[in-house]
Amino acid sequence: MTDIIDGKAIAAVLREKVAVEVASLRDNHDLVPGLAVVLVGEDPASQVYVRNKGKQTVACGMQSFEHKLAPTTSEAELLQLVHQLNADPAVHGILVQLPLPDQIDTHAVINAIDPAKDVDGFHPENLGLLLEGNPNFIPCTPHGVLEILRHYDIPVSGRHAVIVGRSNIVGKPMFALLAQKFEMGNATVTICHTGTKDLTAYTKQGDIIIAAAGSANMITGNMIKEGADIIDVGINRVDDDSEKGYTLVGDVNTESVMGIANSVTPVPGGVGPMTITMLLVNTVKSAEKCVELVTGW
Ligand code: NAP
Repeated sequence: MTDIIDGKAIAAVLREKVAVEVASLRDNHDLVPGLAVVLVGEDPASQVYVRNKGKQTVACGMQSFEHKLAPTTSEAELLQLVHQLNADPAVHGILVQLPLPDQIDTHAVINAIDPAKDVDGFHPENLGLLLEGNPNFIPCTPHGVLEILRHYDIPVSGRHAVIVGRSNIVGKPMFALLAQKFEMGNATVTICHTGTKDLTAYTKQGDIIIAAAGSANMITGNMIKEGADIIDVGINRVDDDSEKGYTLVGDVNTESVMGIANSVTPVPGGVGPMTITMLLVNTVKSAEKCVELVTGW
């Protein structure tokens, strides 16, 4: 039997823990953690993400600062806002929603965020610390995946983890975490991408498969080995005749892995809810550092 992992439930438990820590910071240190989210342009999916982030930030007792900028915003204007947020003591976390419009250099913007407020964990300093095994902020999606593995007692140490996708926000930090010598790592890790010849030859060896390619339903039952634990990071829109005009699906053809995999995360309701939650976790952690209180996330 294949377990369907309930990411929503794990996320709810973690958010309760965040709310307790936020209340403690407020009551004991007169400090309210603040998360600033910057959205440039009107991309519908990004607007939904930003709205959800804002709602959940407030629901946990934190302050949410939303900055919505016009699609024509220049790089200089965005950098000016980032510098302003870096200097604002009420802001403990800064997130610039990606992708950014073409006129803005994403690297320049990420590099301008104060690493101490980089709750997305994308700043080169934070990625370097992660690789070194001494993370400051762990990027939210790979962090969420680790929490799923932890909550479901899915063994990692000594197993073969196969990651499909090598982006800076998912695949590479996921590799750095799973390969690290620590309780949730110590796996042998293979990272696949579009240059991989015969993808199935690798996925078939995976005790754990992390699918993060952004390709609808690409991992099918005949590509996995019996008993594999499958984490589906992908979120893909497939057009259809539904009222919305599309359905969200993952990178894994869930139906085809049922009965073969040991466990699988659904889309939606798997990794997605964890990503936003880990952003809240990182923001609380950042605020806790201001009062030299670190609770061990
Ligand atoms: P990305 O930057 O487009 O990277 C995709 C990676 O997958 C690239 O390394 C690419 O290889 C590889 N790839 C694509 N097609 C492949 C194929 N057919 N075979 C092997 N490798 C393939 O995407 P991303 O930002 O990492 O996101 C990946 C997916 O996760 C997307 O669906 C995204 O929406 C989703 N996502 C979900 C969450 C969440 O919270 N659940 C968070 C972030 C992202 P190359 O490097 O060779 O091009």
